[in-house]
This record gives sequence, C-alpha cells and structure tokens, in this order.
Amino acid sequence: MNTPTSPVPTGATVAGATDRPRVAVVGAGMGGLTLAILLARLPCIVDVYEQAPAFARVGAGINVSPNATRALDGAGVLTEMRRTACRPAGWTSRSWDTGDVLAYLPLGDEAEKRYHGPFLQMHRGDFHQALVEAAAATGGVNLHHGHRLVGLDQSAGDAVRLTFADGRTAEADLVIGADGIHSQVRRTVMGESELHFTGRVAYRGVVEMDRGQRDVDDDFVKWWGPDRHIVAYYIGAGREVYYVTSIPETSWREESWSTRGSLDDLREAMDGFHSDVHKVINMPHATYKWALYDRQPLATWHDGAVTLLGDACHPMVPYMAQGAAMAVEDAVVLYRSLTRHGFGDLPRALDAYEGTRLARTAQVQTESAQNTFMRSGGSPQWLYGYDAWSVPLTPADSEVSR
Ligand code: FAD
Repeated sequence: MNTPTSPVPTGATVAGATDRPRVAVVGAGMGGLTLAILLARLPCIVDVYEQAPAFARVGAGINVSPNATRALDGAGVLTEMRRTACRPAGWTSRSWDTGDVLAYLPLGDEAEKRYHGPFLQMHRGDFHQALVEAAAATGGVNLHHGHRLVGLDQSAGDAVRLTFADGRTAEADLVIGADGIHSQVRRTVMGESELHFTGRVAYRGVVEMDRGQRDVDDDFVKWWGPDRHIVAYYIGAGREVYYVTSIPETSWREESWSTRGSLDDLREAMDGFHSDVHKVINMPHATYKWALYDRQPLATWHDGAVTLLGDACHPMVPYMAQGAAMAVEDAVVLYRSLTRHGFGDLPRALDAYEGTRLARTAQVQTESAQNTFMRSGGSPQWLYGYDAWSVPLTPADSEVSR
C-alpha cells in the first residue's frame, strides 16, 4: 500500500492532477478496504482516507458467512482468512435455561457445498489485517491515516472537494462514504437522519478457553432467552471463545469498541442462563459494552459523485451477523457497476449499484431488527446463497469477470 511519507501542509491538496479518475474512499473498515482492493484493478487512482492514526486490534470475533466469503474470494482475500479462521461444523440454537436444541443448521463442508463459500469465524483484527495486506499487495491503494473527513463540496462541478479535520483538503471525481454508522459523508450529502437507539446493549468478550473445557459440543451456539440472548463461538484456532449478547438496558448509550463493561453486571444479567453460558462468562477476562443502534433504510444512497457503502447507508443490529457481510457485498456490486458503466457514466454506474443493493440490504436490516433468524429453523439460502459477483445489475444485467 502506498502510504504517504511526507506530511502534507495544511490547506494543500493531497491528490494531485491526473488524467485517470480519482476515487476517494472515506473509511478503511471492512467495506472500504474491500472496495479499495477491487478498485485497484481499474484504471483509476484510489485514495483511502481513514480517521484513525493507526489500526487497533479490537478484541472481538466476527462471523463471516458464505455470502461474504464468496465475495471476498473474488477479491483474493479468502485464502489468507482461512489461515486464522475457525470453520464451525454447525449453528445450534438452544433454549437459554434448559439447553434444549431449538434448531440446527449444518455448516462446515455442507455450507461450502450449498452456498459455495465457507462459513468462517475469526478474530475481527485478523479479518481486517487480511484486508489491509491484500490492499497493500495491489500496489495501487494509497492509504492515508489520520484523515478525519469533516466536509465535502461538489458545488464546483468538476470535482468533489474533501476537507479534513486538520485543514488538509483533497479532490476526487468519485467519493465513497464507507465511514460507518456515524457517517460524516452521509450527513453531508443526505442531511441528518435519526439514529435509533434500540434500548439494548451488547456485552462482548474473548475468553481463553480450550474446546475441552466446555461440556456442550457446540462450536457455534446462540442461547435464546425470553428478552435477551448470547452467542458464543470459537475463534483463534479453537483456543478462544468469543461471546456477544443482546440485553435490554435503556440507560447506556455509549457505542465504542473500547469501552469496558462490568463482569458482575453481565453475570447478573445472564442469571438463570444455562451453566455452559456461565462457564464462559465466569472466566477471568475483560468484557466490553456497546449500545446497539440502527437506522431505517434510506431511500437513496447517492448524490452527484458521492455515494455510500456499508454501515454508512444501512447500519443494522448484529443479530444476523450480517453488517460486514453487507458492506463486502456492496463493494463487489459497486466495483461491477463501475466496470460495467465506466467512470464516464457515473450516474448510471451509481444507479446500477444502488438499484441492485437497496432491496437486499433493506431486507437484511429489517430481518435483523426482528431477531428471529434461525431461532426455530428455516432455510438461510436467500441470505447465504447470494452471489454478489453474479447477481444481475439493475437495470442492466452484466457479468464482470473476477
Ligand atoms: P466500519 O467497519 O465501521 O468502518 C468505518 C471506518 O471509517 C472506520 O475505520 C472509521 O474509523 C472510519 N471513519 C469513520 N468516520 C470517519 C471520518 N469522518 N473520516 C475518515 N474515516 C472515518 N457483522 C458481520 O458481518 N458479522 C458479525 O459477526 C458481526 N458482529 C458484530 C458484533 C457487534 C457487537 C457489532 C456492534 C457489529 C457486528 N457486525 C457484524 C457489524 C459489523 O461490525 C459492521 O457492519 C461493519 O464493521 C461495517 O463495516 P463498514 O466498513 O461499513 O464500517
């Protein structure tokens, strides 16, 4: 990855003049990096602006379902991900107190056969690192750390002007806001829209625990309580268990990957849950607490030469574990739309992207909020079987080779 070494003076432009279209991706999360990797295949200049001065390894696991791994395989990232990921044999839904099995979904080889991609569970930091390395390997992605976008201006007509918190500016012919749930890009082009606090919090933690220390032989289990749940699965090559909860709590509004929670509060909130749950949360470890927000689906994602991707346009509660998956799918479809229509016809390309993705992401947002997915069975074919590489582009169908 080309990381600028010399500081750019306040008020100067970061990207210089060129004949090739300049694409600015704001945000180097899962979605922004996947897109940058793919854009590097096109005849354009790719600048990624990330507010963080450096990447931190967040203590959390992530499910990467077959619809996402299939998309990532086409981006050339899957082989590296498999190196550190766990591949669960199945998903078990259990009753919170008795442990009775409510539903079972075979994964492992079955997922690869049925959905053409593995179901992986891994450390979020390992997933992100695989993307960072793949972006670097393209040789065509300029990653600018320490660039917090504060403003966008497309009034000049021929280019979009980006302004960063420290006064630096840049210009681009296309801007993609991949800057997460509190997206500054969305706020700038779409105006303020209400973020909805769900009245619930997620505790999450990573516990050092070998497979042999758990009685129930599940590698991926969701325990369903009357008004709360906990999901637990192995990461770190089976040496660690990651858990994440959803618990009603209206007084807590903070949303951060680094804010600690109280283990005592967590254990109390899980009172009455099966002893297998307590075996995990009673282990000495740090727990983190995250207030859960979502947003109603937006009617449109783009304005002029600016569009949105991932949580910036469709944030969702994590109950179907699909937020990052949707961001990755977006990246593939946006890449295909740009390949199909070219930078010369941006309105058509951005229409095709949005037209292809809006209904899918709105459905996943809505179903996530209902929190019934895989509670008592059913087929996830519609979700896991989606292929971002071949789904027909709206309105014009196209196939873009990988
Ligand atoms: P992000 O990952 O949020 O990345 C946005 C990036 O933009 C960040 O790097 C940020 O620093 C940067 N940024 C923000 N503002 C600016 C700015 N103004 N200027 C420059 N840069 C900026 N999803 C799954 O698929 N599977 C799961 O198992 C799963 N589990 C989850 C568990 C929890 C507890 C939570 C809260 C979410 C979970 N998700 C899961 C959802 C997933 O984390 C998100 O949907 C995903 O990270 C969205 O990716 P993104 O690239 O759109 O945004």
